[in-house]
Amino acid sequence: MRTDVSKKPAQPDTGATQPDTVKMKIKEVVKPGKLFINGKFVNALSGKTFETINPATTEPLTTVAEGDAADIDLAVKAARKAFDEGPWPRMNARERGKIVSRIGDLIAEHAEEFALLDSLDNGKPLNETRNVDVPLSVEVFHYYGGWADKIVGETIPVNGPFLNYTLREPVGVVGQIIPWNFPLLMAGWKLAPALACGNTVVLKPAEQTPLSALRLAELCLEAGLPEGVLNVVPGFGPTAGAALAGHREVDKVAFTGEYLTGQEVMKAAAKNLKRISLELGGKSPNIVFDDVDLDAAVKGAMRGIFFNQGEVCCAGSRLFLSEKIYDEFVGKLVDEAKRLKVGDPLDPSTQMGAQVSQDQLNRITGYIEKGKKSGARLECGGERAEVPGLKGYFVKPTVFSGVKNEMTIAQEEIFGPVVAALPFEDLDDLAKRANDSIFGLAAAVWTSDIKKAHSLARKLRAGTIWINCYNMFDAASPFGGFKMSGFGRELGAHALELYTEVKSVWVAL
Ligand code: ADP
Repeated sequence: MRTDVSKKPAQPDTGATQPDTVKMKIKEVVKPGKLFINGKFVNALSGKTFETINPATTEPLTTVAEGDAADIDLAVKAARKAFDEGPWPRMNARERGKIVSRIGDLIAEHAEEFALLDSLDNGKPLNETRNVDVPLSVEVFHYYGGWADKIVGETIPVNGPFLNYTLREPVGVVGQIIPWNFPLLMAGWKLAPALACGNTVVLKPAEQTPLSALRLAELCLEAGLPEGVLNVVPGFGPTAGAALAGHREVDKVAFTGEYLTGQEVMKAAAKNLKRISLELGGKSPNIVFDDVDLDAAVKGAMRGIFFNQGEVCCAGSRLFLSEKIYDEFVGKLVDEAKRLKVGDPLDPSTQMGAQVSQDQLNRITGYIEKGKKSGARLECGGERAEVPGLKGYFVKPTVFSGVKNEMTIAQEEIFGPVVAALPFEDLDDLAKRANDSIFGLAAAVWTSDIKKAHSLARKLRAGTIWINCYNMFDAASPFGGFKMSGFGRELGAHALELYTEVKSVWVAL
């Protein structure tokens, strides 16, 4: 992602920090949320609502209708009808592509509104929502808009007097369950390829961050998406999420979240053998050799772990450092981490905002305590950060050194700004140690030796390998996990496989 958390952002101050301007803007963009079913905003059948919280203040932002199994059923029926009878899967692919692309245009036109919505709802810095979440969301719709009329079958030379060819058809009704760490962007990663392939969708945003997905639904309608093609049902995991994963009229479920939830989703999906793709957690190794530009690698390590408050599934949370540079590297990292500005997400100079929720804060501080008890050395951070005027869930960037791979803080996903530094001596057992994790989402190698870099890239069991960089994403490049980080690849041409069925057609000649 094009952000560098170790540098002061160059973004001009747009006045967002001036309280009156902010209050006005917040009033303009934050509206009570409803369910979006069959092209209309409606209340939940139960009439229930829940509050979505601003993690920087801990105050409620607004109320949102709380969907449950009954609402999911309505949404699935709308998506089913739109798929079975509506124009979306049947229209000219190029026309469909234009509509998907237009969704990207409309996000771009409302960039500032989306940036503010996600920063308010999630607690992440405006500097990041403006420069990462929103532009990458625009791109993913433009990218898949371009794919819509390029999804082709094959002609296969079979034995006998037959013409055999394949069709790539949409899977049908797709249930998409997304997390709270990149609310708009995760919606984009899921929706853009699914829609481009001609599917209809029921999307369940995370209960912590439902606002941008609802606004997006409105813009999708404006872009020309027919009614019922996209339905958005905010609600909680065990009710709305589980109902969607288990619904028999849903053909496929795509899920991003914790691996334990992924297991539940998989079980529920087994009821009708839904197609399923899972993008789950990680404990990604970030490996630094002694032959690199240390300052560049320190910046990379900073970006790897502190970007998005560490609430990133592919965060570089296990930092393997060559013994020869270990002390110097940890020293530099600690200096940088102490300088990182933790602050008001709406202040454009803020580099790290608030963690998303009290639960998340508890989880992170719980792991920090475990780290201290396990004998790892707390080099910096390790506690809540005080931000003047705000009582939100802020945590100081935290570095542990002297970590052993078997310690809990090197094995379990913390999903916060906590990095575990581990020394290594030589190449021999490095890949084995780096692979010693239930996860396999991403890994990075910093070295100027191309042989070392590429041979490790082969040995590391992870879906993405970054060499001399970290957290790079592009709509065209596949992303997904090995092992318990899930399966299926999002983005790029690979995501088209998730959202199409292959049909073989035989013609007797
Ligand atoms: P986190 O712990 O980071 O919130 P989760 O995996 O719990 O991650 O949440 C990711 C998404 O999965 C959210 O939209 C959440 O509501 C949903 N979810 C949680 N539990 C379930 C479940 N049992 N079935 C389906 N979806 C769920």
